[in-house]
Amino acid sequence: MRRELPGQGASRGSALGRARVRLPHVLEVAEERIDDVDAELERLHDAIRIVRAEMHGLRARLHGALAQEVGEFLDLHALLLDDPELLHGLDDLIRDGRYSADYALRLQRDRLAAVFEGMDDDYLRSRIDDIDQVINRIHAALHRDLGAGPDVAGVAGEILVTDNVAPAELAQLQGQGVMAIVTTAGNPLSHTAILARSLHLPLVVGATGALQKINDGDVLAVDGGDGRVVVEPGPADLREHRARLREQARERKELRRLRREPSRTLDGVDIKLWANAESRKDVAEAHALGAAGVGLYRTEFLFLGSRELPDEEEQFRTYRDVVLGMTGRTVTIRTLDVGADKADRTGLVLENEPNPAMGLRGVRLSLARPALFDSQLRAIARASGYGPVRLLVPMVAAREELLDVRARLDAVFADLRAQGQEVADRIPVGAMIEVPAAAIALPSFIDLLDFVSLGTNDLVQYLLAVDRNNDALATMYSPLHPAVLRLLYQVARTARARGKPASVCGEMAGDALFVPLLLALGIEELSMHPGTLLEVRRAIRGCDLGALRARLPSLMRARTRAGIEAWLGGGKVPPVRG
Ligand code: PEP
Ligand code: MG
Repeated sequence: MRRELPGQGASRGSALGRARVRLPHVLEVAEERIDDVDAELERLHDAIRIVRAEMHGLRARLHGALAQEVGEFLDLHALLLDDPELLHGLDDLIRDGRYSADYALRLQRDRLAAVFEGMDDDYLRSRIDDIDQVINRIHAALHRDLGAGPDVAGVAGEILVTDNVAPAELAQLQGQGVMAIVTTAGNPLSHTAILARSLHLPLVVGATGALQKINDGDVLAVDGGDGRVVVEPGPADLREHRARLREQARERKELRRLRREPSRTLDGVDIKLWANAESRKDVAEAHALGAAGVGLYRTEFLFLGSRELPDEEEQFRTYRDVVLGMTGRTVTIRTLDVGADKADRTGLVLENEPNPAMGLRGVRLSLARPALFDSQLRAIARASGYGPVRLLVPMVAAREELLDVRARLDAVFADLRAQGQEVADRIPVGAMIEVPAAAIALPSFIDLLDFVSLGTNDLVQYLLAVDRNNDALATMYSPLHPAVLRLLYQVARTARARGKPASVCGEMAGDALFVPLLLALGIEELSMHPGTLLEVRRAIRGCDLGALRARLPSLMRARTRAGIEAWLGGGKVPPVRG
């Protein structure tokens, strides 16, 4: 029977396919005893061999930055697969307990979960997720025809329905042929969502109840744009789905035509469109779409999947390749911004911080770890010998931090020059404006900056005191609040008065719906995921900047979200998405 579930669109694209339901971390296997111990052991060992081969094959298929990011997770899973404690434990359960391999997996999983759950260390406690993934893989392999090739896992052409998906899993699932993902938890601003957009994999998050209401094998029509999930679609839904696919194809064609067009308003003002990039693929796409340059290169992607800190050389090579990939267009490299929701695995981020979002993150962490920071500054400075580079500092709250950063940067440049290295004469330094204090006190340190970049993802969270990752507050987390608009306006005005460019690089900049609002507020540069750049360009080409600025007073008079939505042209504005 037809059912419809509401969710939030997190990565655009429509998909029609069968559901593959993955229940969260519980291996529902009933107790089962066997007679033939040797045959059962062989069955288990064959399954483990299949999983090893799958992971090996997957690693070989990953390239570029994604390989770095995902590779570390795969390495960890490979280590677990070879872990004697895990393997001997399984063998013992089969041999001594005469349990089936399936039930042995479940017992072993529950045993390890109990050990991990009792740990004090958050990081170690969260490793139970990795163990679950490995055990689930072995369990799936136990039920696969052993003659079948590795890595198909029966999901090709299916839509995965699950509680949540880790960023590292996404590429793998796409590699296995998953055509879309529906999760009950999650948020359009999470790193999983950012990565899904970069992979062009349709994703609906926050589809609460999906695990209860969708059965394995149900047919689903999913739309990652508006977040709609239809179970057992009827004739009208199928017609609509086909119409959406036709519309997407038509739109893609229309947008492709804009690749070589300027991002110019109807009254002739050029708006600079930069790209946010995380991988080589993003860089290539940004280049092909005519982005002005990379407006935000998030270097934490280099650190997040890894157990070891990337050294200066590794960082240098990565940054240099991005610079070379942009062939002379400017690349804005943001210094490390781990912490809060971006937990690393290297031990950099403090454990048990009472409130990590307000903890040692961004530039605070860099300044607390000078040797680490210097190695990053050196790598960035060396990359500047290969093309134009700007440096962007995250989570700035006060002038003192920028003075420290500038002093370190000057020392790094002097040192590299003394060593005979080729570096730029100088690199422009900018600050992310994402802490409200920085937005309000901008006049007190703007003289130290060459540009500013508004990080609306964090600015909205800190200004409204609404956690950007708290699903329960998802409807409150919106840039359409009078306080946000006032602050954006104020920052743009302060920057313009000093002749310093101000861009917006949060997800809001990539939503074409918000273009008129940002232009009215005085923003003339936007940085977004390349996947949305052409849509934003199209929106800009439909705007009359003079007319929008004339409507600014009425925007500033709006007192509610509904009032701001009405200014935007009426109707409900969906949550920010890419
Ligand atoms: C932001 O906060 O708006 C931003 C662009 O940075 P991130 O999403 O990486 O925190
Ligand atoms: Mg931020």
